[in-house]
Amino acid sequence: MRALTAKTIVCTLALICLLGWAQVGTGQTKRFLVVIDAGHGGWDPGAIGYYGTQEKDINLNIARFIRLLGLYDDEISIVLTRSDDIYVPHRERTGLANRLRADLFVSIHANAHPRNSAANGIEVLVHDDTSLSTYPRNRELALLLQKRLTRALGVTDRGIKHQRLFIRWAEMPAVLIETGFVTNPHEELKLRSFLYQWTVAQVIFNTIKEYLRTTKAR
Ligand SMILES: [Zn+2]
Repeated sequence: MRALTAKTIVCTLALICLLGWAQVGTGQTKRFLVVIDAGHGGWDPGAIGYYGTQEKDINLNIARFIRLLGLYDDEISIVLTRSDDIYVPHRERTGLANRLRADLFVSIHANAHPRNSAANGIEVLVHDDTSLSTYPRNRELALLLQKRLTRALGVTDRGIKHQRLFIRWAEMPAVLIETGFVTNPHEELKLRSFLYQWTVAQVIFNTIKEYLRTTKAR
């Protein structure tokens, strides 16, 4: 009898915990939905560093940290294009954001320089087609992220860059963040550290929130 009671109590507590956990993510309707894309994955490692660091792993860790921050936020829901070490085609990444009618699409990457191992710092990329309807907002978000990230991390500000990118398929404002150079041994060690990844995730999350609050209030 005593064993049965203890078992019941343990089961009830477990159930309460599970329900509570589900409540964290879906309990209330959040104002914003952001799709975070961890670049590369699976057969595609992305850039590889001097110490063997694979870019795909850094991207995924940062994306997961951003999702964790979203779990405990009452305004922003985070959805990842991949939460494991798998390759997802580019069309599917932006397709997911379009289907969900996300407010923002943010792709996380780390940079590489084929010849100069001293290249360092952060840059935020936007698609180079300035006739895109999202272009003004892409640029605005990129500038804000660039400013917030370089200040918080104290790294070289390489400015925002324009390139032909798959993020043009996103129907909402979209940027691609290069969080540092995997090909610079000093930055590679930073990039693979928990502290750097966690700080990058926090700054990205807070900046996204700041951007959404100000633009939606207009
Ligand atoms: Zn990349």
